[in-house]
Amino acid sequence: MTDRQNGDGNQHYDVLVVGGGVAGRSAAIYTARNGLETVILDAGGSILRRNANLENYPGFPAGVDARLLLEMMLDQAERAGCEYRETEVTRVRRPDGSRGDSTEGSRVGATGGGFVTETADGGRYRSQYVVAATKNATDYLEPLDGPELVDRGKTFVATDEKGRTGVEGLYAAGRLAGKPHQAIVNAGHGAEVAVTLLEDDDRPFYHDWVAPEGYFTGRGREVPPGCEEIGDDERRSREDDSRSAMQDYFDESHPDEPEMHPSVENAEETD
Ligand SMILES: Cc1cc2nc3c(=O)[nH]c(=O)nc-3n(C[C@H](O)[C@H](O)[C@H](O)COP(=O)(O)OP(=O)(O)OC[C@H]3O[C@@H](n4cnc5c(N)ncnc54)[C@H](O)[C@@H]3O)c2cc1C
Repeated sequence: MTDRQNGDGNQHYDVLVVGGGVAGRSAAIYTARNGLETVILDAGGSILRRNANLENYPGFPAGVDARLLLEMMLDQAERAGCEYRETEVTRVRRPDGSRGDSTEGSRVGATGGGFVTETADGGRYRSQYVVAATKNATDYLEPLDGPELVDRGKTFVATDEKGRTGVEGLYAAGRLAGKPHQAIVNAGHGAEVAVTLLEDDDRPFYHDWVAPEGYFTGRGREVPPGCEEIGDDERRSREDDSRSAMQDYFDESHPDEPEMHPSVENAEETD
């Protein structure tokens, strides 16, 4: 039995993120940084892995290798305490077997019911929240009565403007929620969904900010929840850390090649 299990055969987390593309990784950074036990379950194939050179993601004026960016985002989530498993999610359901529509879901959620998530490798996870960030994959949500799916050639999940699906505790982030097909937009939406989740959870939360010492306290204010004040020594030490980490990331070219569209590969096979 792992320390995540408590005798019921499930591994327990507060937040389970299905899909580890840019939206899922970004959501996990925020929930983990704010103290929620978070795990990402990812089948391993972010569509961004197909990009040849990512040139419009803010912060990289000369562009960045897309596979490196994904690696850096995962490292950031793991630094915050998030766990990551490469596995395919097959089912998300309510623990009591109910379909968990929005009315029933509220009731189950209010009693701490949450969700059970099952994976192709036999894993079973229990979590209060699920963030679905699987681009256009929705089969695993079938055991739930909802969320509402929208077919626009590809399948999307209907949400409110902040990623709530109408099924209590279930959020959709990124492309799955119909956001434009750009990495920064989907990463940003993952962050927005996570902040919404923190607010819905009634976490003491203001903003996820690191501010210079005195920024709040110098005005006689408490440091708000989610924020941190740091002094000059700590700031310099963190900057050194950051520079050294970034030098390591960019020291050599990333070993992974862009992935080709599957139909191109299949076409080559039949030739
Ligand atoms: C060739 C190409 C080039 C691109 N270039 C750019 C560019 O230059 N700039 C730009 O802004 N955008 C670009 N994009 C678009 C960008 O990649 C996407 O908009 C972005 O990755 C979508 O993010 P997402 O997190 O919603 O989905 P994804 O990044 O696709 O992540 C979804 C994740 O869910 C996982 N998943 C699916 N089903 C399951 C399941 N059942 N269980 C577990 N995990 C599951 C997948 O394995 C995947 O890792 C490009 C896309 C392509 C195809």
